[in-house]
Amino acid sequence: MAVKTGSAGGRVPFIAGNWKMNLDHLQSIAFVQKLAWSLKDARFDFSEVEVAVFPPFTDLRSVQTLIAADKLQLKYGAQDLSTHDSGAYTGEISGAFLKALDCEYVIIGHSERRTLHNETDGVVAAKVAAALKHGLVPVICVGETADDLAEHGPSAVPVAQLTAALAGVAQGANVVVAYEPVWAIGSGQAATPEQAEQVAVALRAVVSSALGDEAGAATRILYGGSVNSSNIAGFLRQPNVDGALVGGASLDVAEFSSISRFKSHVGI
Ligand code: PEP
Repeated sequence: MAVKTGSAGGRVPFIAGNWKMNLDHLQSIAFVQKLAWSLKDARFDFSEVEVAVFPPFTDLRSVQTLIAADKLQLKYGAQDLSTHDSGAYTGEISGAFLKALDCEYVIIGHSERRTLHNETDGVVAAKVAAALKHGLVPVICVGETADDLAEHGPSAVPVAQLTAALAGVAQGANVVVAYEPVWAIGSGQAATPEQAEQVAVALRAVVSSALGDEAGAATRILYGGSVNSSNIAGFLRQPNVDGALVGGASLDVAEFSSISRFKSHVGI
């Protein structure tokens, strides 16, 4: 089975690095520089694979300045945003502020936000609306726990979460979906490519039904959970898996660069 070849095949594969609460602004500058050099050395074609980093809020201005000054083709986004535009919400970050930093993406509903910060499906839906309102592309994370998997199988919970997240979103909206089984995040135990494909098919059907068939066909569905340079190609071989949301392995420049160059792993 062929690995997707990029824009000619429709959806451009997307490799996204979620740094979580790691790397301060100085470290992020060094990281982005090294990543750009590594990909340049490998003659990486950004028109065939999109690569984005998601640093902590405090790094975003530095990353923006570096990418703009050096005309790098790397993208970036934030790890969260507020449901509110502005006002008395101490500690919150508005989507308007992220847009002002030229963020293209924002991660919403990561399982760590859902569990550690009690983000409900309703909060996730409000954040998706806030992102779209401010011209940001939401990377909507969904995924089942090990208990959910045993009780309901792999698709039921992610499908319910995505259905809730897209309620009220306009037809044709530009979103990215990340299927991240909670049991696979940071555990070293990734889902199989076949499991990821099965859920991606179900999630694509949700997007089609909520946002229309055209959006369903165009929306990128990522897999996340213990992705590394050894297993990435297996996921990208799946027809409905369009990229990866990478946590731990995105903190190592060589490893993240290798994941981004997944096409070379299969010699195409
Ligand atoms: C994540 O945090 O979104 C993630 C997928 O982490 P890891 O790659 O470390 O499993």
